[in-house]
Amino acid sequence: MKLYNIKEHNEQVSFAHAIKQGIGRQQGLFFPMALPEFTLIEIEALLKMDFISRSARILSAYIGDELPLARVFKCVAAAFEFLAPVVSISDDIATLELFHGPTLSFKDFGSRFMAQMLIEMGQEHPVTILTATSGDTGAAVAHAFYGLENVYIVILYPQRKISPLQEKLFCTLGGNIHTVAVDGDFDACQLLVKQAFDDKELKQILGLNSANSINISRLLAQICYYFEAMAQLPPRARNQLVISVPSGNFGNLTAGLMAKSLGLPVKRFIAATNANDTVPRFLRDGQWRPNTTIATMSNAMDVSQPNNWPRVEELCRCKNWQLNTLAYGCIDDATTVETIQEMAALGYISEPHAAIAYRLLRDQLQPSEFGLFLGTAHPAKFKELVESVLGQNLQLPQVLAARAALSLLSHRMPAQFSSLRELLLALPH
Ligand SMILES: *Cc1c(COP(=O)(O)O)cnc(C)c1O
Repeated sequence: MKLYNIKEHNEQVSFAHAIKQGIGRQQGLFFPMALPEFTLIEIEALLKMDFISRSARILSAYIGDELPLARVFKCVAAAFEFLAPVVSISDDIATLELFHGPTLSFKDFGSRFMAQMLIEMGQEHPVTILTATSGDTGAAVAHAFYGLENVYIVILYPQRKISPLQEKLFCTLGGNIHTVAVDGDFDACQLLVKQAFDDKELKQILGLNSANSINISRLLAQICYYFEAMAQLPPRARNQLVISVPSGNFGNLTAGLMAKSLGLPVKRFIAATNANDTVPRFLRDGQWRPNTTIATMSNAMDVSQPNNWPRVEELCRCKNWQLNTLAYGCIDDATTVETIQEMAALGYISEPHAAIAYRLLRDQLQPSEFGLFLGTAHPAKFKELVESVLGQNLQLPQVLAARAALSLLSHRMPAQFSSLRELLLALPH
């Protein structure tokens, strides 16, 4: 697979290169030169396959020229060791539960596949993976890379702006995993990461790589579960399917659109955000005006400068899709609470991120359409909040219960690049 830098089209790289480098010159994102497409017959055949075999085929359509199918299969089987079940909510709405991996969020899919690819593509030199998290990326990346040789992980997160259990999940590992609580918001963390990548000397010394959703391997992995959803849904959902995606950095939505560009028969996507509504406002009036990031209860979506958005625009340009075919909406905290309660009355315990996607879906779904929203995190990750909203106790899954008892190992740091630089150079590398 050849990819180009969206900002500098003459920077062209292989998949092996893109996955190691993460991001291109001028912080441009890498984007596939060719967008593969399956025929209708191929799609039907794919939907009959099991998750692992099908996912290997889908990924091979992109990276088959660099890695034979059998090796892709092996990596996928190692990365996707857990299920992604579709669960019915009402007659015409279901959810795709993406939180059955080791860190209970959809980010396990992308992070674990990326770790597999880095090993498989021959990572000879030590590498430091520097990433910012608004909550769930950190955990997924930390667990995917924990204990691997020659890989150091540094994760920045906004202090006190992620849930206590989210923090426990990845800041208690130690070993090759270093976590840093930054005195600032998620956008400040993302900026620090960008500054580190701009620092040529630092990049060289540490062999810096990013595991953010900007890494193309993570996006490719996420395409696979959109096909899995379609395979599990009743046939009447084909062509009538509306998928609502709870969005922050817009990696998940990009992957969904890439699934559609491969030929998956999705009628429409809904870009669902919380009060950090840069994209919904942009889709409404064409003006890109990020506001200051607001802290909400759906903290993993507290992003006002979504870093994958240029890929959405690029994909639409390549496919001749109008941006205004994307549906959108934003939901505030009060409505999120109301919706979690409404869902509980339907017999489904949810959490703030998925609830936002559900709410917009149930508001916008037309007769004869079928709705699917992505369940991006396990409700127990937001235990305190969900318990207070519903007035009932939640059982902690085993992985969380075990971590909750351990103490935090994080460094603390002001949101200043000089502090980050100092910290990075002091780590083993
Ligand atoms: C990361 C995350 C999101 C946002 O996904 P993007 O791909 O960044 O848009 C939504 N929900 C949860 C629970 C997350 O962890």
